Amino acid sequence: MTPRARTSRRTFLAGSAGTAAVLALPTIATKAGASSPTTATPTATADVAVVGAGLAGLTAARRLVAAGHSVVVLEARDRVGGRTLNHSIGAGKVAEAGGEFVGPTQDHIVALAAEVGVGTFDAYDTGQNIYVNGGQRIKYSDTGLLGTAPPDPLLLVDIIKLSQQIDQMAAKFPVATPWTAPNAAKHDSQTLATWVRGNSLNADGILALLAPFTQALVGAEPGDVSFLFVLAYVASAGDETHPGTFERLFNVRGGAQQSRLIGGSQVVSENVAAALGSQVHLNTPVRRIEQTATDVTVTSDALVVTAKHVVVAVPPALAARIDYAPLLPAARDLLSQRLPMGALMKVEAVYPTPFWRADGLTGQFLTVGGPVGYSFDNSPPDGAPGVLAGFVGGVQNLTWGPRPAAARKAAVLAQFARIFKDDRFLSPSEYFEMDWTLEEWSRGGPTAIAGPGTLTQYGPALRAAVGRIHWAGTETSDYWQGYMDGAVRSGERVATEIGAAL
Ligand SMILES: Cc1cc2nc3c(=O)[nH]c(=O)nc-3n(C[C@H](O)[C@H](O)[C@H](O)COP(=O)(O)OP(=O)(O)OC[C@H]3O[C@@H](n4cnc5c(N)ncnc54)[C@H](O)[C@@H]3O)c2cc1C
Repeated sequence: MTPRARTSRRTFLAGSAGTAAVLALPTIATKAGASSPTTATPTATADVAVVGAGLAGLTAARRLVAAGHSVVVLEARDRVGGRTLNHSIGAGKVAEAGGEFVGPTQDHIVALAAEVGVGTFDAYDTGQNIYVNGGQRIKYSDTGLLGTAPPDPLLLVDIIKLSQQIDQMAAKFPVATPWTAPNAAKHDSQTLATWVRGNSLNADGILALLAPFTQALVGAEPGDVSFLFVLAYVASAGDETHPGTFERLFNVRGGAQQSRLIGGSQVVSENVAAALGSQVHLNTPVRRIEQTATDVTVTSDALVVTAKHVVVAVPPALAARIDYAPLLPAARDLLSQRLPMGALMKVEAVYPTPFWRADGLTGQFLTVGGPVGYSFDNSPPDGAPGVLAGFVGGVQNLTWGPRPAAARKAAVLAQFARIFKDDRFLSPSEYFEMDWTLEEWSRGGPTAIAGPGTLTQYGPALRAAVGRIHWAGTETSDYWQGYMDGAVRSGERVATEIGAAL
């Protein structure tokens, strides 16, 4: 029989209704000024408390339960899935507003999905992509030498040279310990932008082209991220037998954007949570973690859990918003102050059909400028309705995010029509957007980014447990950090870590 955590007074079901009454309970201020529930707040005991019901936390919980341990999962939102979120587009179909693609070497998310009955299908990638840079508009196939990267004649030599240089460095990169990489200090003392300036023939041109890539990939600009972080990210795009490459990271064909999950990526979390049942508690934001020599007390707004260990499976910037007693070691605390989230919004326009396919287009465009830098076909497996999605990331997000929604929508649709040279894009049947920077329990996306100095000075604190506190979340993964696969891997790692200690 599956072990169940013992919950006093009442056991909450994985639904918001059960917790609503508890959320209304009065709170008192502690000495530290933090808000703490009164003695009336329900309590529970378990072997392990898990903070966060995204893929990382749910994977950890699933593994721990399978190993015979009792678990309580505390999730701040009224839903599971974290940075994955299905949006209904009618007739039982969905388009993802968060993470969605999987690809070769991402075997951990694909295996977890299969375990809970979720299969994959190929992302639509038939036909030509469009590249627009100033007055230049090129249609190209990603079956060429450069894959998804555009064959811009002015930048071709640099694109080939720089991607080869990065791949060579990534091939020998210690993914679990980036701070021990050859020339780590040198690489971590510069940004991607400064490295490009020192290594390319047409630096301004390459930096302009790189911006839509980094905006979509990490929600940031080439000048925001340390070059060591970029190498770690590229090296991470592989597995124990396939070194990470720039191409696997960026490409649809043979790369990280090759496939999608049937029914939408959030279903994986929903199915894992359903199997965990009443061990998952929604609307329970964790505010405080106190540990002693013998146990740990995790205080949320609606439940206080005493456990032997706690898994904090939230992005570092969110982990930093929890109070810890005693305080975390300085290296860990300072690390979490240095890993901000990227700035990313996903915009999606729904049409009766994916009409661009009949014109021989994949729906993918890459453009220098905004609001959208990169678009793709996000239609359901049967191609009905048609969905065109785009990323508004980095400075584009900061520029367009605060503008009125109607103005932003008009600009996005006008951009689609201009780039595809097709006015049908101006009249979607539905338009929706998801700005992850406005999400209280994500504060940005798709992942945390590291600026210069972070990994070499504070990186060792990323995964190191602090007593009974264990860190999970995609940002802590060696392979596929930033991705769903990395989230699953991190949950598996932390379950092994705790399993050995229990
Ligand atoms: C727009 C976008 C596009 C993306 N595209 C892709 C893609 O195509 N492919 C891919 O593989 N990945 C993609 N990603 C990234 C992927 O979604 C994430 O890497 C992955 O979902 C992270 O899982 P996680 O469990 O580590 O963290 P999260 O999903 O962030 O889960 C953390 C959970 O903790 C909860 N939480 C936070 N603070 C607290 C607290 N104090 N108390 C209790 N609960 C708390 C949150 O509500 C959340 O549910 C994308 C992300 C975004 C935003």
